[in-house]
Amino acid sequence: MSYHTDVSLTPEERVRALRKLGCNITINEDITPRRYFRSGVEMERMASVYLDEGNLENAFVLYNKFITLFVEKLPHHRDYQQCEIPEKQDILQKLKEIAFPRTDDLKKDLLKKYNLEYQEYMQGINKRKAECLKKMEQHQLIEAEKKRVAQLRQQQMETEQFTFFEDQLRKQDLIRDQQKSKDSLTHKVSEQTDGSVMTCFPSAKTHPLGNVLSGQAGRNDAATYASQSPPINRVLKPAATLSAVQNEIVEGLRMVVLPKDLSHKFLQLADANTTRGIETCGILCGKLTHDEFIITHIIVPKQSAGPDYCDMENVEELFNVQDQHNLLTLGWIHTHPTQTAFLSSVDLHTHCSYQLMLPEAIAIVCSPKHNDTGIFRLTNTGMLEVSVCKKKGFHPHSKEPKPFNVCRHVIVKDVKITVLDLR
Ligand SMILES: [Zn+2]
Ligand SMILES: [Zn+2]
Repeated sequence: MSYHTDVSLTPEERVRALRKLGCNITINEDITPRRYFRSGVEMERMASVYLDEGNLENAFVLYNKFITLFVEKLPHHRDYQQCEIPEKQDILQKLKEIAFPRTDDLKKDLLKKYNLEYQEYMQGINKRKAECLKKMEQHQLIEAEKKRVAQLRQQQMETEQFTFFEDQLRKQDLIRDQQKSKDSLTHKVSEQTDGSVMTCFPSAKTHPLGNVLSGQAGRNDAATYASQSPPINRVLKPAATLSAVQNEIVEGLRMVVLPKDLSHKFLQLADANTTRGIETCGILCGKLTHDEFIITHIIVPKQSAGPDYCDMENVEELFNVQDQHNLLTLGWIHTHPTQTAFLSSVDLHTHCSYQLMLPEAIAIVCSPKHNDTGIFRLTNTGMLEVSVCKKKGFHPHSKEPKPFNVCRHVIVKDVKITVLDLR
């Protein structure tokens, strides 16, 4: 769950949640401090892009990561003191002149933004509350009116019933009186009488108005009304559905745009090696725009290679070229001249370090012999296993669950690719 997008939280809580995301860094002792410094250079590049594009959240998280990495975490690395790192001065300067002041500014801007959102949210809540109260009041008024009408009807029925009985009794009395006088007249003639007069007395059960006596009509109406009226809880919405859904970039994988003829161009360049059965490798570089990575360059460094290995040489040259073009490291590409497209155990270790630096990093494996190309990344379980594995060279890794799979965050587009061959 991303707390920073929850507008029901106070602005301070949301900023704290973002800061927490920026603290989420674990140092792997098997990755050299130099590699982390190189990653720091790229981290700052990405943060600047986010800042320029107005993505305050991602810029804030990245600058916090930058600070956490170089102030808190990396100084505890086993080899931190031992190595000479050319980027050290540059990073320390960036910390002081860029990361700290920009983080402070971003915090203020975020608080301002979240304050506005919070006010809007509270206004929405109050509006809903008022609407709900109004509906409840209306409901109560209608209920009262229904009850009053039902009571009136009942009273009216009772009065009608009473009048009817009274009338019947009066008629009965009249008949009895008439009978009496008739009897006195006919008494001498006949002693016979019959009870037929009693038959005109109606029974309440059979009378058409009989059912009103039980008051059923009134109750029926109330029940019908109750079932049609909206329940109160339908009006009140839970607070969670009110929170604005913002982009989830901070946690999820950003897309990587892959130029259509990237592998074709790389295979052309690797052709001489491939025919001799020797591997070729290159670094996939590019830029970040609107929260998407675009591969713009393949840099082919000086390398020593064989049928099943390919090692980079003179990485300084590679770093210089990357810095000149302001490029990010987005992954790597290599050929399997005789084998199929997959990640060997050595490839898994190589890619693990790329993915530790950038979760979106991809590994492209080209198999010209099998006319196949795979775009891979390590699975979560693969990362857990390989990042702690101390073995070197080819060695077995668990087959189930699979340590790597085909990337789903890659999109192929017809965009330009530049090849820089440093060999
Ligand atoms: Zn390989
Ligand atoms: Zn291993």
